[in-house]
Amino acid sequence: SSVVGVDLGYQNSVIAAAGRGGVDVILNGNSNRLNPSMVGFDESRKMGELATSGASSNYKYTVTAMKRLIGLAFDDPVATLEMQRLPLQFCRVPHADGVDSIGVQTSKDPDANDSATTVVPMEAVAGMMVRHMGTIVAQKIAQETNTSVEANMPQDWVLTIPSYYTDAQRRALLAGCAMVGLTGVQRLLHETTATALAYGIFKDLKKEFQADQPTHVLFLDMGASAYTVSLVAFEPGKLIVKSTTGDANLGGRDFDWMIVTWMANKFAEKFGAKLSGNPLDRPKTVLKLLAAAEKAKKTLSPQGVKEARINLEMLMDDLDFSITLTAAEYEQMCEPLLARLEAPIVQALAEGKLTAADLHSVEIVGGSTRIGCVKRALTGFLTNSGAGAAATELLSTTLNADEAVARGAALQSA
Ligand code: ATP
Ligand code: MG
Repeated sequence: SSVVGVDLGYQNSVIAAAGRGGVDVILNGNSNRLNPSMVGFDESRKMGELATSGASSNYKYTVTAMKRLIGLAFDDPVATLEMQRLPLQFCRVPHADGVDSIGVQTSKDPDANDSATTVVPMEAVAGMMVRHMGTIVAQKIAQETNTSVEANMPQDWVLTIPSYYTDAQRRALLAGCAMVGLTGVQRLLHETTATALAYGIFKDLKKEFQADQPTHVLFLDMGASAYTVSLVAFEPGKLIVKSTTGDANLGGRDFDWMIVTWMANKFAEKFGAKLSGNPLDRPKTVLKLLAAAEKAKKTLSPQGVKEARINLEMLMDDLDFSITLTAAEYEQMCEPLLARLEAPIVQALAEGKLTAADLHSVEIVGGSTRIGCVKRALTGFLTNSGAGAAATELLSTTLNADEAVARGAALQSA
């Protein structure tokens, strides 16, 4: 049985396995490395990529954001805020003991109302996603060895958690794994530590760290939901996390929502009184807008791209909608978000009593560090924090932005 590292992301989950040849990210059945963190309760249960196709029609019973919702009480204001930022509102209900849960429809009878449901605790949904990730590895080995999937489920798991997790959330994740009958040992590791490990091990093997003075590296991770900064000192055979800061509510989804709001306003401006209501109150319209926003955002990431064309057929009330988002407009829109990138960096350096000039490199990971204006903003701050002209070279992508956390976790478990 294998030893695995699982990065349970807000949007994407990744699994890496440690083997004789090192650490590998394992592809799912569709040959993809990223698995949407999503569990759909339909006639059968669908997880990861398999859940995406039915998500729009079965949105009431398709759960996302487990990463953020576990370990919270049903009426926790944080949970309420999280629900507001979901693409689709699933049927959330309180559990007997007050923990956050999903009400799962047990009958396919169209006349059955939502009371015809069983209640699944949110942590169990997170557990199902973790289990699904393990299945990806087990399926691969089962195929290669002609054995059963169950016999090849990992027995040694390192699950990464964000640095903002409370004790209750850590416990909830482990409890969720137990609820779905996950076997073996599950250990938790901070995402930032996993990234630092993924970076450090190979540099260490190549004898790039010195014994007489620590090599300081700043790691910046911006994913879909959160932004984390951590300052790490490397010495031969040693990794010391000096400080971890960040903004738990700054990530790619905030850029998406910015564009969605802009589009919805333009749409309402154009069709005005013709519309039968607010586009943002329509689940399927919101879903279409979010998908288009994420696409436009990605189009505008590379340096030099001037605009993104957005075409939405039958967005609402059978109306088609086309609009162009220019890079200039987009960046202006993003400014309030970009302005929040600096403070955690300043704080991390201050806690470590360093300036940017003392850094060996600044490693960026997470999908949202691909955003062009994010990279430029980061380079700007580093220049002002004492790195001078070297700032442009400081920002480095040694690690695979999508895989570093899972790889580091698998290395830790090895
Ligand atoms: P978190 O770390 O917050 O739990 P996650 O690990 O699921 O989230 P990632 O997989 O690192 O997040 O990144 C996903 C985010 O990166 C999404 O918001 C996605 O839109 C964004 N993203 C991916 N590629 C690009 C790109 N080329 N340009 C802009 N954004 C991108
Ligand atoms: Mg992440």
